Amino acid sequence: MNMINTNLPTAELQKLDAAHHFHPFTDNSALGKKGARVMVRGEGVWLTDSEGHRILDAMAGLWCVNIGYGRKELAQVAARQMEELPYYNTFFQTTHVPAIALAAKLAELAPGDLNHVFFAASGSEANDTNIRLVRRYWQAKGKPWRRTILARWNGYHGSTLGGGSLGGMKGIHAHGGKIDGIEHIEQPDWWSEGGDMSPEEFGLARARQLEEKILEVGPDNVAAFIGEAVQGAGGVIIPPSTYWPEIQRICQKYGVLLILDEVITGFGRTGNWFAAQTFNIKPDIITIAKGLSSGYQPIGGSILSDEVAAVVGGDEFNHGYTYSGHPVAAAVALENLRIMQDEGIVEHVRDVANPYLAKRWAELADHPLVGEAKLVGLMGSIALTPNKATRAAFTSETGTVGFRCRERCFANDLIMRHVGDRMIISPPLCITPAEIDVLIERARKSLDECYAGLQADGLM
Ligand code: PMP
Repeated sequence: MNMINTNLPTAELQKLDAAHHFHPFTDNSALGKKGARVMVRGEGVWLTDSEGHRILDAMAGLWCVNIGYGRKELAQVAARQMEELPYYNTFFQTTHVPAIALAAKLAELAPGDLNHVFFAASGSEANDTNIRLVRRYWQAKGKPWRRTILARWNGYHGSTLGGGSLGGMKGIHAHGGKIDGIEHIEQPDWWSEGGDMSPEEFGLARARQLEEKILEVGPDNVAAFIGEAVQGAGGVIIPPSTYWPEIQRICQKYGVLLILDEVITGFGRTGNWFAAQTFNIKPDIITIAKGLSSGYQPIGGSILSDEVAAVVGGDEFNHGYTYSGHPVAAAVALENLRIMQDEGIVEHVRDVANPYLAKRWAELADHPLVGEAKLVGLMGSIALTPNKATRAAFTSETGTVGFRCRERCFANDLIMRHVGDRMIISPPLCITPAEIDVLIERARKSLDECYAGLQADGLM
């Protein structure tokens, strides 16, 4: 029996929501006045709200519903696991079949010698684990002073105190502070910050800031560098081709551990199982979450190289979560990976969905509001600009044009997110060419309406 009547009218649900539900990353008083949209059902790339609108979810929830909504197999596996062993931990010399099987599967899928999995319940928790892991690694190697972690401004690694500190979002640091021993370098966002440099020159210049920072902090004080292969929450910033090879070279030169945050990019998003393969990066640790279970259960983790696991595993590691390797979440993740393999979802991204979306997405660059339109696998962004030639930004007088555009998308039953004046997408990986056509058609209509609105308000 449901505790609340789910057949309540939308306005009643919104009233209860406003009275008792405090939303993340939200101005709760403003939302309370407006009323949140109530989602009730999902199927493939489609969501249905309480008013019966059929909405194309071009964000896969929060970049996580990789296999799409409504897969009954996952519900069945969860129910079976709950009946058999709903919970047990792996702290005190015990283990269980779902955690064993999932860890072994991840070791098989992950590149190189990334063979050991420490489980968490989210990406934030996994990155908190990483802070402990890399500092413990250097302690165990007899260099406890090697504890500074380098990261990037406008990176996102979660919103726990540790994850939020690794991230370079000043708004997050402003609410509750930042832990010590984390320093940031600038991001490889050529469109906004590249000036007169070519993308390749700019990629090298931004990567070399890592070397400058290592020298400033002192090479013997740096534990690790963390970065997202492609910044997601920062606006889908796809780095120039020169960036990652140079970061890799610098990490190797100074013996700095490389943590690749694949919370968004893992599990097919870029057309390979991991973006480490797409960008030819050889990390020591990979952070995973989201697509691991396609968001059907909360689960994340850190995949460690043989060397990191051997060093940290040489003694007791004082860290763990009640829900590390939760059996229901692990069983669901395993079934999600089975479906992805059996249905060739990564191959679908690489051979069908990415080539088609790349062609259609690029067409948007001819719109008067759009500067660059970029895509890797199935994550993409468009930069809105008042002047394509100079790659200009909108002024504060115009307001956030991305927000205006997002509102038009929402009205047109398309979920696209905005980050400042960038519009971003990350649809479920099962999206078909016909659904990509709907996505593009609704995106163009929303851009047209946004442009018309700016003109009507005398802003363009
Ligand atoms: N890392 C990255 C790259 C992310 O995008 C996110 C979530 N958007 C996180 C970490 C945090 O994951 P979670 O929200 O599951 O804690």
